[in-house]
Amino acid sequence: MTMSRADLARLDADDPLAARRADFALPDGVIYLDGNSLGALPRATGRRLAEVVGHEWGEGLIRSWNQAGWIDLGVRVATKIGHLIGAAAGEVAVADSTSINLYKLLAAAIGLRPGRRTVLTEEGNFPTDIYIAEGLLGQLGPDYRLRRVPAARIGAAVDDDTAVVMLTHVNYLTGAMHDATALTRAAQARGALMLWDLSHSAGALPVDLGAAGADLAVGCGYKYLNGGPGAPAWLYVAARHHAGFRQPLSGWLGHAEPFAFEDGYRPAPGIARAICGTPPILSLAALECGVDTFAGMDMGALRAKSMRMGDLFIALVEDACAGQGLTLASPREATRRGSQVSFRHGQGYAAMQALIARGVIGDFREPDVMRFGFAPLYLRYVDLWDAAEALREVLVSRAYDRLEHRQRAAVT
Ligand SMILES: *Cc1c(COP(=O)(O)O)cnc(C)c1O
Repeated sequence: MTMSRADLARLDADDPLAARRADFALPDGVIYLDGNSLGALPRATGRRLAEVVGHEWGEGLIRSWNQAGWIDLGVRVATKIGHLIGAAAGEVAVADSTSINLYKLLAAAIGLRPGRRTVLTEEGNFPTDIYIAEGLLGQLGPDYRLRRVPAARIGAAVDDDTAVVMLTHVNYLTGAMHDATALTRAAQARGALMLWDLSHSAGALPVDLGAAGADLAVGCGYKYLNGGPGAPAWLYVAARHHAGFRQPLSGWLGHAEPFAFEDGYRPAPGIARAICGTPPILSLAALECGVDTFAGMDMGALRAKSMRMGDLFIALVEDACAGQGLTLASPREATRRGSQVSFRHGQGYAAMQALIARGVIGDFREPDVMRFGFAPLYLRYVDLWDAAEALREVLVSRAYDRLEHRQRAAVT
């Protein structure tokens, strides 16, 4: 392959998204390839949080629930997220964590499919998705089971006992992407509901839950949506299911009239019944700034840049690091990948630490996967070149042998 850094600089010069990078406060000397784990900080967030803390909380105090619109903030952010995922008005709520939303939606899905006792998922799904299903089904009783099958066999494994098929659209480890429409159809053809986890999709590629016919979905706020560490998550319930949707965390803010202070629970008529308690306003305000980094965004253009970046990174790394023990863990075909590329390496953990020490930040996932995420809003094409060169330097110099890089931190 004959590609030079100047070729990549030319791609940056022609990049219609290049100006978006200025919306983020990125540190100098860092190439950030981990926006799939924690999105970068939007410049607007610090200012907005200072205003919410100093003015709305500090001066407005409790009046701000009404006067600063805190009580409507969740709906406002949910509407903006809805535009990114092909939801109709009133089908998305912002609340809790992805894990908790999975719990609520799985429980509601089982309630919507009485007599069916299987949750079907794929082997190698993100751990929390599996753990939450295990916890819920364990509580429901011994008749309920979580069935895990290899990704390629999901469609054929749906049967008359399947209440819900729970899949992550883009696999966290490999970046492999499912065909959402085809699998949704396969699930529904056997009478099951389809629940998509879009944690690695929303904000990374065009998603159209309405067109796919999905029943339920969840996703993170702190990955590609740039909402900040531990940002609230979101959930989606197709409008046709609202009337029958009952979730177990029937808290007061999901009540039809929270401020009536009634003794018994009556669910709100629409998506608000998926809410449990008081929203975290500071985090929600930060999430809104993150979601606003997509304002007016042509998601098709974003996807085009993301696919091109993935293809280029694979080519650059395979060229620069040939013979250094890396193997591609992601689909080679861009249309079958999300916005990340993963490579396996026997010393993957230490190699990633050595890379991070050089200012190129990706992450590591067991057992041997080095992950590189591409957030097209703030990444430059030259960053791909520089990252591949840094990776070459780490591997050729065997920097991964150094003790300081081999010690495992709590978060990998
Ligand atoms: C990141 C991620 C989560 C995270 O769940 P939290 O409750 O926010 O910790 C869940 N599912 C998938 C597929 C993820 O990628």
